[in-house]
Amino acid sequence: MTDAPLRLFNSLTREIETFTPVHPGEARVYTCGPTVYNYQHIGNMRAYVFADTLGRTLQYKGYKLTHVINITDVGHLTSDADEGEDKMEKMAASQGKSAWDIARFYQEDFERDLARLNVQKKQHPRATEYVEAMIAWGERMADKHCYELDSGLYFDVATVEDYGRLARAVTDEGEGRIDTVEGKRNAADFAIWRKTPPGEKRQMEWDSPWGKGAPGWHLECSVMGEKLLGFPFDIHTGGIDHREIHHPNEIAQNQAFCCTDGLHVAENSGARIWMHNNFLVERSGKMSKSSGEFLRLQLLVDRGYHPLAYRLMCLQAHYRSELEFSWEGLEAAFTRLKRMVMAVEKLKARHADRGEKVVYGDAWERHPKSRELLEAFNAAIANDLNTSEALVLAEQLLALKKGDTHCVLSGLGSIDSVLGLGLIDLTRTDLRIRPKNAEITEAEIEDALARRAAARAEKDFATSDAIRDELAAKGVEVMDGDPLGWEWKLAR
Ligand code: AMP
Ligand code: ZN
Repeated sequence: MTDAPLRLFNSLTREIETFTPVHPGEARVYTCGPTVYNYQHIGNMRAYVFADTLGRTLQYKGYKLTHVINITDVGHLTSDADEGEDKMEKMAASQGKSAWDIARFYQEDFERDLARLNVQKKQHPRATEYVEAMIAWGERMADKHCYELDSGLYFDVATVEDYGRLARAVTDEGEGRIDTVEGKRNAADFAIWRKTPPGEKRQMEWDSPWGKGAPGWHLECSVMGEKLLGFPFDIHTGGIDHREIHHPNEIAQNQAFCCTDGLHVAENSGARIWMHNNFLVERSGKMSKSSGEFLRLQLLVDRGYHPLAYRLMCLQAHYRSELEFSWEGLEAAFTRLKRMVMAVEKLKARHADRGEKVVYGDAWERHPKSRELLEAFNAAIANDLNTSEALVLAEQLLALKKGDTHCVLSGLGSIDSVLGLGLIDLTRTDLRIRPKNAEITEAEIEDALARRAAARAEKDFATSDAIRDELAAKGVEVMDGDPLGWEWKLAR
């Protein structure tokens, strides 16, 4: 197969670049992780679906992947610009729990959501495990790049070349850059260490050369990236909002730590490529964690949607485009997933008749049409992760009328190793998610349908219609003649 070189959009240069690994044969990726003070909303999860698809693509391209998603369990203030309270401590106080318990609870919930979205296992270091290393970093940068105020140690952004180049439009008036801390030299200066105010006690605080306190949020990613992946590593990812403040600040710290000058060479920033996913947006404001019932993955499941329908919804858009969430859109993605899973089930049944085991490898190469589609897939995914085209190619592969079952299944296995939709293993039963408010169980539905089938066999249409009406009253739509062979569905 012609192996299309992997090309990725680098936010630092605003150009699509060919991926060249720092360490031959390896790919090292750092993804800014969640602040575990609350549940994640599905917008946050878009960032990890993107990062995971990138990681899977790197593996598909033959690189040995090391991928870190950090867990912010300290230091993130209610505003990115060093004002407000620590998100963890605030939530702990409001729930009457310790900040440590809050962190553990929401980290576990986050990891459950990752698993439900088929995000491959990654390293999840916690910020609190790296505080000593953060203090050491602070000490190394302090003399040349920092200054101390009553409230903490601050990074002077004028001491590094090209500050804010990633954001491209850093102005003192910029959003979130309001100079709220008295004595800052530049509005964009940010905290490396936040001292605990005299007379106060924080739940999470440590001794440091600048007094008792807690690290600034931006420091943790610099430190964990360097410790776990080494500088420069290959790719740093995050949501598009991080392109404006968090990542420029990380880059400034990395330059200071490595004593490197301007960003004429991308790797002076700590990573060769910086990538950002665009936002998932929702018009009614349900994405905001301050709105009562915000959009969590669990809410989608409670309404009867399989989590992987959401993954598919994400993959339908390019990661650099905004994606608007709607229930109709999710429904359409779910139907698309069902179609594919049902097609795979049929294919497997056809293949089972041949009595031959599927070897998920390169069997697709034997068949010209499946080879052609796999080559197109390879080119699409190598083109800055064109997942929407990849999905269409997967469907074309499944639709090959005279496709050799072995070649098609093996090719689909390759494609799904990147898309992560579980296409080979998901079954119709897995996709039957009962909405939380449903009044009837699957067993009851199956039982009623069996009685209905028996009545129809006896040509007792009155009973058959009565059963259908009974089911309808409980929100079950009987789908006779559905082209997908989907026999019933529950109203959501
Ligand atoms: P946070 O916990 O706020 O640091 O967010 C975790 C990740 O989700 C970061 O990479 C954010 O940039 C990203 N993110 C936040 N909101 C959205 C959204 N609506 N759509 C996509 N990504 C988001
Ligand atoms: Zn980060």
